Amino acid sequence: MAQHTPMIQQYLAIKAQYKDAFLFFRLGDFYELFFEDAKLAAKELEITLTGRGSDKERIPMCGVPYHSAEQYITQLIEKGYKIALCEQVEDPREAKGVVKREVVKLITPGTVMDGKTITDKENNFITSVSYFDEGKFGFVRTDLTTGESAITVLTGGIDEVIFELASAGAKEVIVSPDFDETYLEMIKQRLAITISFEAVEAVPEYFHPICAGIQHDQLLATIGRLCNYLVRTQRRSLDHLQQVQYYTSNQYMKIDYHSKRNLELIETIREKKKKGSLLWIVDATVTAMGARLLKKWLERPLINQTEIEERLTVVETFIEQFFAREELREALTDVYDLERLAGKVAYGNVNARELVQLRRSLQQVPKIVQIVQQLNVPLTKRLITTIDHCEELLDLLETSIVDDPPLSVKDGGMIKAGFNSELDSYRDASLNGKEWIAALEQKERQETNIKSLKIGYNKVFGYYIEVTKANIPNLPEGRYERKQTLANAERYITPELKEKETLILEAEEKIEQLEYDLFQMIREQVKSYIRQLQQLAKTISTLDVLQSFATVSNEQRFVRPHLTDNREIQIESGRHPVVEKMIDRGQYVSNDVVMNREREILLITGPNMAGKSTYMRQLALTAIMAQVGCFVPATSAVLPVFDQIFTRIGAADDLASGQSTFMVEMLETKHALMNATENSLILLDEIGRGTSTYDGMALAQAIVEYIHEQIGAKTLFSTHYHELTALEQQLERLKNVHVSAVEEDGKVVFLHKVVDGQADRSYGIYVAQLAELPEHVIVRADEILHQLEGEEKQTVLPLRAEAKDQEDQPVQLSLFGEEEKQSKKPQTTSAETGIIKDLKKLDILNMTPLEALKILNDIQQRLKK
Ligand code: ADP
Ligand code: MG
Repeated sequence: MAQHTPMIQQYLAIKAQYKDAFLFFRLGDFYELFFEDAKLAAKELEITLTGRGSDKERIPMCGVPYHSAEQYITQLIEKGYKIALCEQVEDPREAKGVVKREVVKLITPGTVMDGKTITDKENNFITSVSYFDEGKFGFVRTDLTTGESAITVLTGGIDEVIFELASAGAKEVIVSPDFDETYLEMIKQRLAITISFEAVEAVPEYFHPICAGIQHDQLLATIGRLCNYLVRTQRRSLDHLQQVQYYTSNQYMKIDYHSKRNLELIETIREKKKKGSLLWIVDATVTAMGARLLKKWLERPLINQTEIEERLTVVETFIEQFFAREELREALTDVYDLERLAGKVAYGNVNARELVQLRRSLQQVPKIVQIVQQLNVPLTKRLITTIDHCEELLDLLETSIVDDPPLSVKDGGMIKAGFNSELDSYRDASLNGKEWIAALEQKERQETNIKSLKIGYNKVFGYYIEVTKANIPNLPEGRYERKQTLANAERYITPELKEKETLILEAEEKIEQLEYDLFQMIREQVKSYIRQLQQLAKTISTLDVLQSFATVSNEQRFVRPHLTDNREIQIESGRHPVVEKMIDRGQYVSNDVVMNREREILLITGPNMAGKSTYMRQLALTAIMAQVGCFVPATSAVLPVFDQIFTRIGAADDLASGQSTFMVEMLETKHALMNATENSLILLDEIGRGTSTYDGMALAQAIVEYIHEQIGAKTLFSTHYHELTALEQQLERLKNVHVSAVEEDGKVVFLHKVVDGQADRSYGIYVAQLAELPEHVIVRADEILHQLEGEEKQTVLPLRAEAKDQEDQPVQLSLFGEEEKQSKKPQTTSAETGIIKDLKKLDILNMTPLEALKILNDIQQRLKK
C-alpha cells in the first residue's frame, strides 16, 4: 500500500469496510470508482474505463458526475448491487492533506425509498432469515417504504425459505455471517436476490416498541439482525416502522411457491406479466395501497370460514348497492398512497406537493366514512370505527399549504397567506417594492417620453432602467447613473431604485428562509400523525380491495360461493376466469365440477389441447377466489374451505421454466403427498411424462392409489395414460371424466366439455394432422399406432381398459413375424388401409346417390389393382 498516493490509501481503507458494495468515492464534482469496482461498474453501466497514476502502476478508474449519479445508482440497484456513498466531510479549502471522507449512506436493493425500482403497486421487501434447528427458520420481511413488517417460523426447510423469499419478491436477504454455505448457494442459484450479512442480533433499544409482541428469543434475533442492518445502513429516521406482525402459516391456506407460480396467481409463468394472472382479473382497485393489499390477500387466502363470509357479505352488499360503490370508487381516486406518504414523512423527505396529496386524501375521509356507514355490514362497520379523521392535521394542511406548491422546498411559494403574520409582512414588503418599481417605470416613461424604457432585473446587477441606444439622445443628461453598456442599450440605476431593491431582496430572502422553517415545522407536526395515517391506510386499502372484488364480480358475472363443511364441491357452469377473458366473449365452454365422498378423485382423460389443464386450474382458482372473499366464475358454487392447494403441472407444460426434469416433478409430488390432508386440493397434471412410459404409468398409478388410500384429498388427476382409466373399477372413490372431442371430416373438434366416463382415445395423431404434418407421416403414424395397440392387447397389463368400440379394434400390419401374424387378424394391404380410412371420412348424409355410387366404383377399382 505504501506506493499509493495518500488519497488512494484513504480509498483503500474505506473500501476495506465495504467490500460487498460499490464505493462511490466523491472527488470534486464526480463520484469515482477504482480497481475492481471500476472495471465492473464500467461494464455494468457502459461507461468508459480510464486509469489514474503512472503507466506502470495505472489504477483502473471510472466515474459518474455528481449531479447525475442517481440514474447510475438506480441502474446498479436494479441489478442487485449495493452502493456505499462516500462524501467529502470537510471543506477542501480548509483541509490539511487529504480531504476527510466518510461513507454517509449505504444504498441497497432492499432499502431504497424511491426511484425506478419502487413500483406503486408492489412492496419492496428486505428480509432476514435465520436458522433455528431441524429445518426450522425464522423469516421476517419489512417494507421500508410503508413501514410494515411480518415475521414467522418456517418449518419446511430451505425450500420453504426460498418459496417465501420468492413470493415476497424480496430484493435483499440478511443473514448471519455463519449462515450455512450450501443454503446460501441454493438461494443464490434459485433467486435473483442480494445477500447481506449482519452479525449483531440483539434488538437495539430504539426498536423495542415495534418488537413488543414477540417473545421467542430466536425470532427476536431474526428481527434484531434486520434492525441492526438498518441502523448501520440507513442513518436516518425510521419512526414509521410499524409493530412487527407475527403470523403462522396455518392461519392461511397454504399454497407453496411452485403452485402459486403454476396457477399464475400474481404473474404468468412464461412472461412474468401481470396480464394473464388471477391478480389481473380481480384487480379493480383504485389506490396503489389497495393494489398492494390485494396481492397479499391473493398470496394468503383465508381458512377461517367466518372471516371469509364477512368479506363475501361486504362484496355482496357492494354489488347490490351500485351507487354506494361508485361513490366510494370516486372518493378513492383522490386518496393518495398514505402508507408511502407516511414513510416519507418519517424520513423527512416529504415535499409540499406530497402534503397537498395528503390533504386531498384526508378530505375524502368523511365522505368515505359516510358511504360505508350506509352499508350497515359488520365488517365495514368495524373498519370505520378504526378511522381517525385527523381533523387537526387536515386543518393545519388546509390553512398552511397553497394548492399548487413548487417541487422544491427551498424556494418559497409553498405557504398560504394568512398562515403566518411575519411571512405576510415580508410578502407585503416585497410586493410593495415591486409595485413601487412598476409605478416608477410608468413615471419615467412619461417624463422622458421614451416609450421603450423599461425596468428589468438580473442576479448580477439587480434592478436597472434600460434605454435603447436610439433613445439615448432623448435622455436628459445626468438623470440616471450608468451601470452597464450592451450592444444596443444602456442600463442605469438611481439611488432610490437601489434602496427599494435592497428592501425587496431582503424580504425575499427572509421569505424563503421563513417558508422553509415553517414547512419544517409543519412536517414535524405531520410526523406525530404517522400511526393514525398508517391505520387509515389499512382501512382504506381493505375497502378498496373489497370494492374491487365487487366491481369485478359484477362485470364478470361471478357468483357468491356457498361454503360448506361437508367436504363437497358442486360447481355449476364453472369458468376459468383468465382463459374466459382472453378468448372471445361467449366462446368459453363452462363446465360443472362435482366432487363428494363418492367422487374424491377425478381422473381426467382427453386429447391434447382439449382443456384438461384448464379445467383443473379453473377449480383451483375458483377455490382461491372464494377463500380470499371474492365471488367465483360459475352460475352456482358450493365449496369446502381448503386448507392447502398443491399443483404439479407435468413436464409437457413446464418447459419454459427450464426445470422440466423428472426430479423436480417427483420432488413436487412428494411435497404434496407428505403435506396434503383430506381437506386439501391436489392437482396432478400429466404426472409421469418425464420418464419412460411404463415407469411413468406405474408411478402415476401408485400415486393415485396412495392419495386414495392414505390422504383422501380432493384430487384432479389428468393423464395421457388411458390404461389408468381402469382404476375406476379398483378405487371406490375415483371416477373417470373426460374432455370430449368429436371427429368431423376426419378432423378433431374440441368441445372443451368435461363429461363422466373415459376418453376413448388420445387423438394425438389428429392433433398432428391439425398441425398439418405431411400426409405421409400421418398415415404412417396411424399404422404404427394400430400396430402398437394390437401389441398391447397381448401384453398382460393389469390395468388395461376393456371394452373398446369394435370400430377401434386395431388393424394388424405387416410389421410382425409370420407366426405372430397367424395368431392375429389377417393382414391388410396398404390399399385396404387407405380405403378404410377414406370410408371413415365419408360424410354420407351430404352426398347424392350418384356421388355415392361413384365412390363405390372407385373403391372397387382400387381393390382390383
Ligand atoms: P390440455 O391440457 O387438455 O392439453 P388445455 O387445458 O391446455 O388442454 O387447453 C388448451 C386450450 O384450449 C386452451 O389454451 C384454451 O384456449 C382452450 N380451452 C380449454 N378449455 C376451454 C374451455 N372450457 N372453453 C374454451 N376454450 C378452452
Ligand atoms: Mg394440459
